[in-house]
Amino acid sequence: MVEDTQVISQRLLNISELFYSIQGESTYAGLPCVFIRLAGCNLRCRYCDARYTYEEAHAAMALDAILSFVDSYPEALVEITGGEPLIQENVYPLMVQLISRGRTVLLETNGSLPIDKVATEVIVIMDIKTPGSGMGESFASENIAFAKERNSIIQGACELKFVLTDKNDYKWARNMVIRHTLNKSGPTLFSPAKGQISPLDLATWILQDQLAVRLQLQLHTLIWPQLSRGV
Ligand code: SF4
Repeated sequence: MVEDTQVISQRLLNISELFYSIQGESTYAGLPCVFIRLAGCNLRCRYCDARYTYEEAHAAMALDAILSFVDSYPEALVEITGGEPLIQENVYPLMVQLISRGRTVLLETNGSLPIDKVATEVIVIMDIKTPGSGMGESFASENIAFAKERNSIIQGACELKFVLTDKNDYKWARNMVIRHTLNKSGPTLFSPAKGQISPLDLATWILQDQLAVRLQLQLHTLIWPQLSRGV
């Protein structure tokens, strides 16, 4: 049975914050972007900079109210992030509604939940958690095949991101990239965990190994170092 549009628009999502900023952590970095940050996360990474998404109480918002906010920025990218967005079932109709409005939609996910139900048009930016995150066992390994499949349908439709805390994490990520030829299938991003390794060290290791991955810095933290949310 096809669900009534009116009913879909009243579906609820727990929202941590809605804001308009500069995309900072993908091949889309630098572009104006509307962020829909969903509350709640199923992981507890050591370096988490978004604890407020699961430590604070959050209000539920109807889908049409979220879409109204997005509509105020008609030219911007739209990123759904968290927390972990995929723990809320109503994120799926949200993505469908955004795509049907012709928006470019990015989904940031922590890699622990299967991405196979995410609409093909959505660009998935997926973490692969390293041992140094404390959540190294969380990755849903079937997501490697799903990521490759998405990239075979639409080039660049799934970006893989490793946030690295030390040299061991770097070696672990490098081995995973090589073993699964990840960088041959789509954008592969290596990012230093803030305050744990320097961009210079990470750049040096990548160059020494001639590893074809993209070094990524969190652009928003360079622009607004004093702000921890809303950017
Ligand atoms: S997955 Fe993201 S939001 Fe969740 S604990 Fe890890 S860093 Fe924080």
